[in-house]
Amino acid sequence: FSGQQISIYFSWTLSIPHWEDTPLAYRLFGSSQSMVSLPLFYPSLAVYLPGPTPGTGRWWLERGSVRGDAAFNVSSLFVVTATLPSNQIPVTSGSLITSTTVAPGRAQHVWVTGPVREFLLHMSDRFHQASTEAYGTQVTSYWLPGHEAAGRDALRFAAASLRIYSDHFGPYPYTDLRVAAAPLGFRGMEYPQTLLLGVQLYDAYRSQLEVRTAHEVAHEWWYLLVHNDPVNTPWMDEGLAEYATKIYYEALRGGVYAQSYQVRRWQAVIEALAGRGEDAPIDLPVMAYENGTQYEAIVYGKAALFYDAIRQRLGPRQFDNFLRSYLETYSYRIVTPVELWTALRPFDPQFADALYVEWIGALPPVPTPETATSPQGNESP
Ligand SMILES: [Zn+2]
Repeated sequence: FSGQQISIYFSWTLSIPHWEDTPLAYRLFGSSQSMVSLPLFYPSLAVYLPGPTPGTGRWWLERGSVRGDAAFNVSSLFVVTATLPSNQIPVTSGSLITSTTVAPGRAQHVWVTGPVREFLLHMSDRFHQASTEAYGTQVTSYWLPGHEAAGRDALRFAAASLRIYSDHFGPYPYTDLRVAAAPLGFRGMEYPQTLLLGVQLYDAYRSQLEVRTAHEVAHEWWYLLVHNDPVNTPWMDEGLAEYATKIYYEALRGGVYAQSYQVRRWQAVIEALAGRGEDAPIDLPVMAYENGTQYEAIVYGKAALFYDAIRQRLGPRQFDNFLRSYLETYSYRIVTPVELWTALRPFDPQFADALYVEWIGALPPVPTPETATSPQGNESP
């Protein structure tokens, strides 16, 4: 079907699971505590990974696991119409085009998106909200009753993150960014134009609200724009989203604070892990790690130090230039470590090669200008 268009129509019904109503609940899909989270509530075409020559590629058919993310999607354009109870306040990807009352107690909403990885529908009849503007983007925060101060903090942190990352990485190209409470305990999860934050971050874990927000907002660049296989190379976006939090703190609190943050948050954890003989390479699939502790320490912390090694070598200004060039070349596309290395080589080829060998493995063939610009992971089969 290469180069041909095909239209597919289908209908389906979905049972929405209802989970326990406790702030401890970590539930990505379904309802809990008066909130309904519906990421990927529709069938989605698998990613096709092209091979070296036409016809030699394969479909990505991973099932995901208990740890890490499992959603892997090409950038797509969505038009979504949802008829919902009128008291539900939806938090979604895309831009709201219309909302009309279609029957007593029923509202119909229509959203459209730019190129995004998926369409998230998250909602509650209890959300309160506030908005602000950051570099032309409308930022909106949604929180549950009783959490107004934290909800307004989340708004401030998200807007600050958006400004700082726009300055360092390149502009955020969407008109909306949303942050909402969700049944995710003290964790967070990134979706296109929306980050969901566990209800405990608004309460018992409020001290972690800022760093969680800063981490998840960074995923709007490193996941939504530049995407990687979340099962086989999870470190690529997790490490960079995590490292972005240092850049966030550096911008707001200065270099001394950011450096001690790095030591506390990543270096000390990795040293303790190594002390127990549990160090591991960053470039492993999710399930190759022995447990959740090792997975998080390596894929988040050690991978953040991988990006720090690049920044130490290039200096902060050239590091930003490298990230901008990586973003410009690979936005709306899918990357592997080879593309990261290809983006780094123009800045310092010897260092890029040595870094690749030290952290990833044997060097792939050096890219020629032609292979460096050929699409990766976005071709039609
Ligand atoms: Zn993350």
